[in-house]
Amino acid sequence: FTPDKIRNFGIIAHVDHGKSTLADRLLEITGTIHKSEENKQVMDSLQVERERGITVKAQTASIIHKHDGDQYLLNFVDTPGHVDFSYEVSRSLAACQGVLLLVDATQGVQAQTLANFYLAMEHNLKVIPVINKIDLKTANIDRVYEEMTSLFGIDLEDVIAISAKNGSNIEEVLKTIVCKLPSPLQRDPKSFNPNNNLKVLLFDSLFEMHRGVTAYVAIIDGVLRTGDTVTSQILLNREQKGKKTYTVQEVGMLRPGREKTDALYPGQVGYFICNMKSVSEAQIGDTLFREGFPVKPLPGFVKALPVVYAGLFPPLPVEYDQLRSAIDKLILNDRSVTVKHTDSPVLGRGFLIGYLGLLHMDIFRQRLRQEFQADTIVTVPNVTYKAILKPSRKKGIKEPKEILITKASEFPDAVDVIQYSQPMVTVTIVTPVDYITAVMDFCDNRTGEEISNTKISETQVVLVYRMPSSEVLIDNFYDGLKSLSSGYASFDYEESGYEVTNLKKIDIIVNGVEVEELSRVCTSDKVDGLGRSICQKLKTNLPGQLYPISIQAAVGKTVFARETRPAMKKDVLAKCYGGDYSRKLKLLKRHSEKVKALKQSGSANISRKVFIEIFKR
Ligand code: GDP
Ligand code: MG
Repeated sequence: FTPDKIRNFGIIAHVDHGKSTLADRLLEITGTIHKSEENKQVMDSLQVERERGITVKAQTASIIHKHDGDQYLLNFVDTPGHVDFSYEVSRSLAACQGVLLLVDATQGVQAQTLANFYLAMEHNLKVIPVINKIDLKTANIDRVYEEMTSLFGIDLEDVIAISAKNGSNIEEVLKTIVCKLPSPLQRDPKSFNPNNNLKVLLFDSLFEMHRGVTAYVAIIDGVLRTGDTVTSQILLNREQKGKKTYTVQEVGMLRPGREKTDALYPGQVGYFICNMKSVSEAQIGDTLFREGFPVKPLPGFVKALPVVYAGLFPPLPVEYDQLRSAIDKLILNDRSVTVKHTDSPVLGRGFLIGYLGLLHMDIFRQRLRQEFQADTIVTVPNVTYKAILKPSRKKGIKEPKEILITKASEFPDAVDVIQYSQPMVTVTIVTPVDYITAVMDFCDNRTGEEISNTKISETQVVLVYRMPSSEVLIDNFYDGLKSLSSGYASFDYEESGYEVTNLKKIDIIVNGVEVEELSRVCTSDKVDGLGRSICQKLKTNLPGQLYPISIQAAVGKTVFARETRPAMKKDVLAKCYGGDYSRKLKLLKRHSEKVKALKQSGSANISRKVFIEIFKR
């Protein structure tokens, strides 16, 4: 395929608007996969994706479509819709010239539709608007037209109405892709030349237990063949000095499974396998070239900024190395996490991991378990606060110094602090007019500040608020919004700087011992409520012991909330059948002595095992 016969595009939309289903139809209609009942959302190949019915990873496939007697190669990416994975979307659009923007005819434009549309504009991509699910009785095509024209300035004639489920009008989509999307060459006439020096964008990579590293690539210039020697642009870690070269062992296309070929040509997207051993070698965003023929590197990808942090620990200290190796492999396929080492008095050696949201955190943990058999314990997630410390000769701080607080144990002494600040987000909510008052109250309660309020059709409104990240990312914003709007409102957010605030650290003291893993940082107004609720939760979740457990919440030295978990009554006689009275007495006596000894020796400390139970619940 010459580059003028190639089209690269992404399928973008709000969650559940039908991206993966449309991908299935495109694969079937072009004969890439067989039509069958089992071919449902074939692009969602991860176990988590199949179990949860959501797309987590952007997935590429190549299809061949005949139009006007010519064969065209169409490379497309099925993208995730959840806001937690928008980094995946943004990254995968780097190799595209256009997008299909899907809107569900029954729901209309939703928060992620807006976010994705702006993303496409940012990447300067041609947008093909598509209305999906027109087979449903509740489809309201006119309303969706109205929203699309008023929001996106789209011409009605350009909108294609389809049903991804029953396949109606899919031919029209294919025709529009061929006729309206620019080829890679049209976008960048100086590149996509097979005679230029080899230039390859590494846009994704995957580690599999039995196969090792596979690199996913887009060919910008030159031809990539089996047996070629390629060099990575990025310097490897400092010890190794210099760049590393690899011999290409296999190249191929993604249809969507791997299909071996002899070579990949400019404008094509595919995979290659080489002798990459360690994870640090396959850097996403890297530009590869032929050994001895360096090229100007592509811009690469901006690193994702994590918004929530939580500790990740092995259930047993001896499993630390195993967990580390599992994380190393998983981050090959998920570069949006940041990983730091951390230690915890109770849980031992572990990691502090930065995620793009709580769903992301959940998925990461599930993938560790399912793809790498690594079980984990997760601590309470936190957003990243900041503090400015006073200059102090004693501590060697010459000027006011800003520090990040990613976990409670990093919280500085109040006397050392000039100012605290908290991260903020701008939230975009799309809601039916009927729920507007409820949504506004909900945002007010979360100290949101209204920025705008726009009607986009007879029935729909877009509200924009600015509020603390912790309100949106940690405190079940999603569930709250969904339940007050009977599921109709949707939201999206983006980071919006920091704002000065007053912060406190809540310490949790269990039987007289402060437990660092349970400490929390929050704004001053939240201290009371949060402290109380932690104590109550612990009371119900702490596994019962033979002695009573006191639970206290304190700020500094002041205890402001307390609960007691009563001693568990152990049925000492459970194992004693029959009527031997003296034996029963003996057992009872031994038990009461044991409890007394426990109390006296102060060994009523909570053991590691008990904590693991808490974090598991
Ligand atoms: P994605 O999250 O955008 O990838 O959406 P999916 O492709 O996973 O589809 C979400 C749900 O909508 C699935 O239950 C699909 O079967 C359903 N769906 C997708 N397209 C259509 C359509 O055209 N008509 C109907 N009735 N249902 C559809
Ligand atoms: Mg999907």
